[in-house]
Amino acid sequence: MKRKEFLGLAAGAAACSLLHPGCKPRSARPGGPGETRVTVGLFELRLRHAWGLSRGTWTTRRNCFVRIERDGVVGMGEAAPIARYGETAESAAAFIEKASPVLQKDLFEYLDRWNEIEALGPGEHAAKSALDMALLDWVGKRHGLPLWKMFGLAAGKALTTSFSIGIDEVPVMQDKVREAADFGVYKIKVGTKDDRKILEGIRAVTDKPLLTDANEGWASREEALEMIDWMADLGVVLVEQPLPSTRLEDLGWIKERSRIPIFADESLIEASDIPRIAPYFHGINIKLMKCGGVQEAVRMAGMGRALGLKLMIGCMIESSLGISAAAALSPLFEIADLDGHLLVSNDPFRGVRTVKDQLVLSDEPGLGVEGGVWQ
Ligand code: MG
Repeated sequence: MKRKEFLGLAAGAAACSLLHPGCKPRSARPGGPGETRVTVGLFELRLRHAWGLSRGTWTTRRNCFVRIERDGVVGMGEAAPIARYGETAESAAAFIEKASPVLQKDLFEYLDRWNEIEALGPGEHAAKSALDMALLDWVGKRHGLPLWKMFGLAAGKALTTSFSIGIDEVPVMQDKVREAADFGVYKIKVGTKDDRKILEGIRAVTDKPLLTDANEGWASREEALEMIDWMADLGVVLVEQPLPSTRLEDLGWIKERSRIPIFADESLIEASDIPRIAPYFHGINIKLMKCGGVQEAVRMAGMGRALGLKLMIGCMIESSLGISAAAALSPLFEIADLDGHLLVSNDPFRGVRTVKDQLVLSDEPGLGVEGGVWQ
């Protein structure tokens, strides 16, 4: 990492002034025997291509990273804050600092620790996810177990991942598909007035199955159903979030008539949402950053399966740190859309590998991730 890329330091006065101007460095713990040293850093991930969704376009994403160290063992976690839910890298860092006292307790009791973190306040799911990852990374390393083994999963059942194509001019989107020739399935961002032109352009350069994600971008249920019907003929196999999140009755109307599965993304945040939205969708897209971490994602997968929903694990724009945590859970799911780190040109971590489109989990304990943004 180049020093200038590092936007915040928590281990000392610099970070503390980032979080609380003028204060003493209280977020840095001394790290003595039995104590947990907590360090936070903000880092700007640069995107290989501009990332376009129905609600905006980005060239960088600023994420927040936490490092905990106790008894000589390090645990790491990542927060990719979701602006739609009012989160920023700074709000994530502030929440992590607020949670530091919880990390001074017994880390092996990670179920209780997560409950205590959750009880600190509503929202800030990305920060909660970072803390959960760091806890599990630390515990996994102490037990000598990779994350997938801690949850009784088989690394050999890790999924292949789709590759996401953000909204752009059609020739640019076609180039992105050609660049990603190793992938067997593409997830195309739609929800614009140019959707037909976009999908015809994509279909002109690949005959592989396509997933689409409208990100709440279509206005009416009739318009959405007409598009979905047209897309089904084009070889689109799944549509994510065709209408705004709260329009559940209209989404249910689409579900009853659609020839291809309708998945919830924005309509769903955490486990308690699942029973309420289950009747209106065929499947759900679970993301660590959206739900608050690995433990909550495992609970959600169990609940979704019990309610007969198809299960997808997705991601935000994240480094290999966050994606490695999600990839370790992929054996629990039917579809993985875990390519956020592949869209980044300055990934400061190494973890899960992608061989063609196959996620290959590490045998190393914890998240199996190396690297860092902390100085
Ligand atoms: Mg989505």
